[in-house]
Amino acid sequence: MGLLQLLPFQETGGSLACITVGAILGILVLILLALMAYQRYVASRRPVQHLCDYCGHMVSVASDCHHAPVREKFLHGICTECKRECRLVCAKCKRPV
Ligand SMILES: [Zn+2]
Ligand SMILES: [Zn+2]
Repeated sequence: MGLLQLLPFQETGGSLACITVGAILGILVLILLALMAYQRYVASRRPVQHLCDYCGHMVSVASDCHHAPVREKFLHGICTECKRECRLVCAKCKRPV
């Protein structure tokens, strides 16, 4: 009698625990994904520093044509002055990085 009364309760309790664990795992995965997306967002917003062989430390880059700030693409950039493709040079010593 007592056992029969307990069984349904235990079953719901068990599935509830499963749902809770699943929900927590889901939330954790969501938080992790949000963190990764946030890090990528921050990294894309932050001006990229390059190692200049001549200055010997991390420097910001400029375009080789106008020595203006560059919107960086992979291995090259867009000069914000003339809106054309340019190579990246050290903002301090104007040598290619
Ligand atoms: Zn330099
Ligand atoms: Zn330019």
